[in-house]
Amino acid sequence: MHGNSHSVLVIDDDVDIRESLRDALEDAGYEVATAANGREGLERLEHALKPCVILLDLMMPVMSGPEFLFALREAHDATPVIVVSAYGELADADTGIACFIPKPVRLDTLLKAIRLHCCRLEVHEQEQPKPPRHM
Ligand SMILES: [Zn+2]
Repeated sequence: MHGNSHSVLVIDDDVDIRESLRDALEDAGYEVATAANGREGLERLEHALKPCVILLDLMMPVMSGPEFLFALREAHDATPVIVVSAYGELADADTGIACFIPKPVRLDTLLKAIRLHCCRLEVHEQEQPKPPRHM
């Protein structure tokens, strides 16, 4: 697995959602980091975390999803962001996101979206390009 695992950063203020997504994604073979709001998410990224994909809630205290997205793109970080949120919260965040997964989350839909967007940015980290393997 070393050097060949895929990582996901989960940003959500709901601890139950964070932990259930962590369990499900770890079961699917991903390395998972979590953050409780956009500010914590930025701090994770500042400390050398380089996720393949970021899962982002929108309505959060301290720093919301749209505020996080703005700061991320201001820092020229092009990591794919999948918004995981309730319908109706998307309006402020519809720029620069890879896709939108509504809550309650369907795991198969989420895993498909992650597979689609994972690793577009990390070909340079591999000696030879190979098809992404996630299962
Ligand atoms: Zn990946």
